[in-house]
Parts: sequence; C-alpha cells; structure tokens
Amino acid sequence: MAERIALMSEIKVPVLSKSRTVPFLEPGAMAHSKPFPAGPEIQARLGFPDKLVPDWEKVAVNKLGDLVKQSRALRVFLDSCVKCGACTDKCHYFLGTADPKNMPVARQDLLRSVYRRYYTFAGKFFPGLVGARDMTKEVLDDWYSYFHQCSQCRRCSVFCPFGIDTAEISMAARHIMSSVGLGQKYTNEIISKVHNIGNNLGLPEPALADTLASLEEDVKEETGVDVRFPLDIKGAEVLVVTPSADFFAEPHIDGLIGYAKVFHAAGVSWTLSSHASEASNFSMFIGSHSNLQRVAVRIREAAQELGVRRIIVGECGHAWRVAYNYWNTLIGPFDFLDRNYPIPQHICEFTHDLIDRGALRFDKSVNDDKVVTFHDSCNVSRASRMGNHPGGQFTIPRAIIRACCNHFYDMAPETIHEKTFCCGGGGGLLTDDLLELRVKGAAPRMNALRQVVEEHGVNHVAAICAICKSQFAKVLPYYQFPMNMVGSVHGLVSKAIQLGPGIKRV
Ligand code: SF4
Ligand code: SF4
Repeated sequence: MAERIALMSEIKVPVLSKSRTVPFLEPGAMAHSKPFPAGPEIQARLGFPDKLVPDWEKVAVNKLGDLVKQSRALRVFLDSCVKCGACTDKCHYFLGTADPKNMPVARQDLLRSVYRRYYTFAGKFFPGLVGARDMTKEVLDDWYSYFHQCSQCRRCSVFCPFGIDTAEISMAARHIMSSVGLGQKYTNEIISKVHNIGNNLGLPEPALADTLASLEEDVKEETGVDVRFPLDIKGAEVLVVTPSADFFAEPHIDGLIGYAKVFHAAGVSWTLSSHASEASNFSMFIGSHSNLQRVAVRIREAAQELGVRRIIVGECGHAWRVAYNYWNTLIGPFDFLDRNYPIPQHICEFTHDLIDRGALRFDKSVNDDKVVTFHDSCNVSRASRMGNHPGGQFTIPRAIIRACCNHFYDMAPETIHEKTFCCGGGGGLLTDDLLELRVKGAAPRMNALRQVVEEHGVNHVAAICAICKSQFAKVLPYYQFPMNMVGSVHGLVSKAIQLGPGIKRV
C-alpha cells in the first residue's frame, strides 16, 4: 500500500452551486482512497494482531458472526434493507465524490453481502441470487477503502424508513479489520497514546501543567482577573474532561478559556485531571468495546480519586456521544456523583443553565465584528441529546450564541439540526492521508455555508466539536473561505462574558 499524502494541487475541489444536484456517477472514483495502516506496535497495544493473520478470511467471518450475535441491532440492520433508495443521495461523501460505493446502501452492502453468504440460508445455497459474496482479498480491499469513507455521522439513517444505521455497520467492519490485523494508523495510534499517557496527543502531566499556567497568565493580562485553570485539585466540585485539542490548538483553546471564565463567574470550583486529560474516545470509531471501556474508565478513576461531585464534558462531538450513550453502562454506576445534576453534563448545558438563571453577564457588542452561523455536529445532533427537552442539542448551543452575539443566522433548514451535514472529517478520518476525501466530503456543508455568506454576510462558524473545528480550519481555504472563520461556541462566550465585581454567584 503506497503511503503518500495528496498535494493540495492534486485535489479536484467540487464546485459549489446554488442548486445542489446529485452528481453523475463516477464508479471507482475513490477506490484509491485508503488510510495508512497501523503498524505492528500500535496494533499490539490495542490487543489486535500485529499483521494480517494467516487464516484472516476465516477469522473475519467468525468475528462477523460474533458481532451479529452480540448486537441484535446490527443483525436487524443487515437483514432489513429493502433497497428503496431513500438514502442514496444523503451521504456527503457520495455528494462530494460521485463514487456510487459511497451511497449508504452500497456501503452497507459491502458487509451485508458477506453476512448473507455465511449467515443466511439463501446466501449459503443461492449466493448469486441474493448478492452474497465470499470473503476475499478483493472484498477486504473494498472494505478498507470504503469503510474509511464513512464518518459514522448517521445522516443516512434519518432518511431510511427502517432507521438502518450505516454508522453501526461501519464500526463493525472496522472492528473486524482491526481483529484480523488490518487496523487504521490514525485512530489506533491515538487510542494507544491514551492508553499510555492519558490523552490523544501524548501530552505528559508537566507539559499540561505548564500550558494551563501560561493560560492563567494570558487571561490575567487580558482581563486583569485571576481566572484559574486548575489541575488535579482534590475536592473540587466539578471534573472537566475535554478534548486535548482544547489545550493548545486554534481555535479550540478559546473554548477552554471560555469554560474557565464561566466557572469563575459562577463561583463553581472545578478541575482538570492529568490522569484523564482526554474526553475523546476514538475506540468508538473502530467499534472496539474493550478499548472503549479501557479509555473511558480513566475518567471514572479520576473522578473518584479527586472526589468530585459532577463530571462535565467539554466541546467534543464524539466524546459527548460516548459519554451520553455509553458511560453509565460502560463505566457506571456513578452513585458517588451528585444526582441533582445530569450525569454526565455537557458544558453547554452548564453555561445555558447559568444564562437562564441570570447568573452570567455579557457585553454582546464585543462580538459585533462577527456575523455568526452554527454548525451542528453530527455526534451531538443525531447520536445524543442535551438538556431536559427534545431538541435541546439544537436549541441550547444556539441560545448561548444568541446570548453573547447580536448577529446570528442559521444555514438552510435541510442542512441543520438532525439533517446537518458532516464537516467531512469525523469518524476517525481527520488525517492528512485522507485529505482528498475530507475536502470533497465537506462540499455539502461548504455549499450551505456559501449561501449564508452570500445572503447574510456570515463571517464566523461556531461549533462544539473539536474534530469539526480542526476539519473546518483545514478545508475552508479549499473553498476560498478564510481558515480562521471557525471558532468555539465558548470562544464567543469568552469574549463577551463580563468578569469581576457585580457578578451574581450561584
Ligand atoms: S453514516 Fe454518514 S458518512 Fe456513513 S454512509 Fe451514512 S451519511 Fe455517509
Ligand atoms: S433507505 Fe434504508 S431501506 Fe432504503 S435503501 Fe437505504 S438503507 Fe435500504
């Protein structure tokens, strides 16, 4: 497998158009797109074979059998497609690449055909009649390519009359591939760093402490106020777990500064943890339950060790999906936390509650240079919820933005809320070896952005997902937008929040 990153000039960027049309099919257009494979050491650290095992076909088929036995949902998804076609033009990767294997139903069929061959009566005896295929090297190559062209965003499932979830199928396929010794370098390397050091970046405790200390100095210089960025403080009220990108990357770091200012203004004690200095959990992307649990349990251990009463998750889409959906069963029960608050709680819920109670003051005019739109992260929109009412994941971030900005416009209705388009870099695909896919897959979101830029003069995209922010910063220039057009929702909070005397503490 040739390991090479596409040059910017080699990527044919889709043309954005007023009437978004379904592209003419280009079979095989993205067959060449494959992520770098994980090396032997990385694979071994995750408990997977360090190279393709000799009898990998049999191992793959057996693993598929195990997965459908363990997950009734997966079996139903594989059994119930009626080929109605409703999902075909709903995937951003199909719309951006024109490759028919990026139609959700075609992607599902890559796994479904093998499932039928080995686990259904018709597939065993009449394979040709039901589209059943043997597990071969050609099939494995297709899996490696096209299951790494799915960001597990669940947009297709919104339009499927049976709610068939391609994300679950994609996770299962990646799990099988890792299990036969063919893992993806980017995701698996990151998971191994969390196992070893505690965060995606491999950032050790002294470096984290230094970073937080310099943030305290910066905020003091900016505001004259002693806003703390506490680390490993026993007895704090709240443990904050956030994506490690918040510690250093732009524009993520402005979000972390925003959280700190909100805690300061509210008078609520909080801490970060060097043991659990990462909210992200890439194990979900490869469908590995054991790694998912091994990464997540660090957060439980940190909460118990520090004696906190609440856990709040920072701006990270898939971390919130993992926390909201899995934590209670994976690493619960959280009987040592305060049940008067959501377990877990999102930072947006925390800030929004304070705004609702009049406990925060803002000067919106400081954000008057910005005309803002909001990008709904797939993981928050379609794979979790927020707040105590349906649709809270859509209304809460927008209410925060409106509380600290005067100029806000939503993108077109068919591209937001539960129909939001993925940024193009989610699901473990935020790696430069998949840059062509990321650029092309961003096209539907960029098209919706172009519309509000032209109609309302939007010049700022706020997001609550670390991956979305990084992906936007990378792909915006390909579409002639400035890379600094993207920011954190709590970056807007950070600018507008009023600190100091007169703050009503809660
Ligand atoms: S889950 Fe998202 S990325 Fe995957 S096939 Fe469906 S729409 Fe495409
Ligand atoms: S919408 Fe659902 S049932 Fe229809 S083709 Fe797609 S996956 Fe199959």
